[in-house]
Amino acid sequence: MKPAIIRSSDAEVLRFIEEMTSDVDSVQERVLSEILAQNAGTEYLSKCGHPMDRATFRAKVPVVSYEALKPYMQRIANGDRSPVLSTRPVTDLIASSGTSAGECRMLPNIQDVGGRLRHLKSLLMPVMNLHLPGLDKGKALYFLFVRPETKTAGGLTVWPILTSFYKSEGFRNRPHDPFHDYTSPTAAIVCPDTFQSMYAQMLCGLCQRHQVLRIGAVFATGLLRAVQFLQLNWEQLAADIEAGALTSRVADESVRDAVAGILRPDPELARFVRDECGKAGWAGILARVWPNARYLEAVITGTMAQYVPTLRHYSGGLPMVSISYASSECFFGVNLRPLCDPSEVSYTIMPNLAYFEFLPVDDDDQEEGDGVPAVLVDLARVEAGREYEIVVTTFAGLNRYRVGDVLRVSGFHKSAPQFQFVRRANMILSIDADKTDEVELQRAVERASALLRQPHGASVAEYTSRTCTARIPGHYVVYWELAAGVAVDKEVLDGCCLEMEEALNTMYRQSRVVYGSIGPLEIRVVRPGTFQDLMDYTISRGASVNQYKTPRCVTFPPAIKLLDSCVVSNHFSAALPRWTSYD
Ligand code: AMP
Repeated sequence: MKPAIIRSSDAEVLRFIEEMTSDVDSVQERVLSEILAQNAGTEYLSKCGHPMDRATFRAKVPVVSYEALKPYMQRIANGDRSPVLSTRPVTDLIASSGTSAGECRMLPNIQDVGGRLRHLKSLLMPVMNLHLPGLDKGKALYFLFVRPETKTAGGLTVWPILTSFYKSEGFRNRPHDPFHDYTSPTAAIVCPDTFQSMYAQMLCGLCQRHQVLRIGAVFATGLLRAVQFLQLNWEQLAADIEAGALTSRVADESVRDAVAGILRPDPELARFVRDECGKAGWAGILARVWPNARYLEAVITGTMAQYVPTLRHYSGGLPMVSISYASSECFFGVNLRPLCDPSEVSYTIMPNLAYFEFLPVDDDDQEEGDGVPAVLVDLARVEAGREYEIVVTTFAGLNRYRVGDVLRVSGFHKSAPQFQFVRRANMILSIDADKTDEVELQRAVERASALLRQPHGASVAEYTSRTCTARIPGHYVVYWELAAGVAVDKEVLDGCCLEMEEALNTMYRQSRVVYGSIGPLEIRVVRPGTFQDLMDYTISRGASVNQYKTPRCVTFPPAIKLLDSCVVSNHFSAALPRWTSYD
């Protein structure tokens, strides 16, 4: 099924969405047979008995997660050019924010994936424009960034999907499109230095502030980072605007050239920036600085929901829109009611993007391991109100692959189910792109608590954790109850914070070191008996004594309050953990 619509009229796009959602099952049937035909010659599908139709596919192809595919990915990364997973040549590898054994997951990319992403993006603005007409009459201030790329032993580039998209010829040489008229010059978007990139994007956004109709970033954290950047840099930004000259802190020549085309001496704008940003209260700053903005766009569901209150504080009442749901593995769908409340956001899966199946997560009789002959439910047969883990089969060569996201069916658009994002399976902590699971946290606690043994003979008796996003950047808080009777020096506990960070996954450390999007990890030591109190409290609310296990992450506000009321000392990481691009 070709991702046919790249540039079409709004009406055509809306008609296409209606058509795709009218008979989801027949679209899915077609998509699967196209994928199976395209990838018929692959080693993977051959090993699965060459399935060519839905029934054989269901009977023979196992449900897998990344670990099972890792040896194939490794071979591709090392230069194996045979049709391992896909018959189309692998052009590069996509680094997902998901990790496996602490390392980044790598996924093969083939040529038409970029086309599919452009296709998904082409659906979004017509939907938005239906609800807020006139969005083609101004600009978008979107804070967009590239991330570092590496090469594999086999010479393939490894980069995040959006980095590959922004650096593609298609993006750099895109024809003018009134719906994608960004205030940020492309040179600023593709500048690898985060400070220079953000500075230039903010400056250009300020210079064109009256033309800005929408403000966005990929994730809510990106928008909040932009606000924080403005808080830290408005004086320099105002000075540049007054003089019409860019600070020497932005040294990248192509960025300087691009900004020179936009920046003019404007004392009045400089005064405005100083007046607004110099005020004590920053509530509503986004609407004040960009008075014609009509909404904020960013992913605000899933782990990003924790940032909605802070974003609301800065938004000045602008609607917050979470328009699409996508991942490195697969693009899923669109929010067809973009102006709904953040708590009600649902995504309609577009059945032409991949073949989708669903693993019920609320069934006691379903096994959870890899390769299980689990009964998967088709897209057209999911039931309202139930939760499922999404399983995808893609043109790029993933077959019955567990993405790791749990979704709840919230309703239907025509015959297409709509899903609320519930959670990332296994993940307990996330501030930005990091996804930390229980095993990783346990490993980090074990490694750090080794520092307590020598010379103190102390140990961690119990622990739990949470994220703290009261300030930006947010950080991990880990509550430790130490085995009673042994005093531990403050310096040792401070050192334990860094030791834990060293043990966390590559995405965590990259976010700490490269983007500064996660603050120093904090250990809060609680008094002896705190975890007993936590258990008593949980049981008083109806939990079973026999089945009680210490939660490794707490989100329930009264439980957090209980823990915080028992803190005897706080400790922070005093340095950055190690991270290299070859991690
Ligand atoms: P990545 O593989 O790094 O591109 O991250 C993709 C993951 O981010 C998805 O599998 C989800 O867990 C999460 N994600 C992406 N879009 C959304 C969304 N709209 N709402 C909630 N979570 C999302």
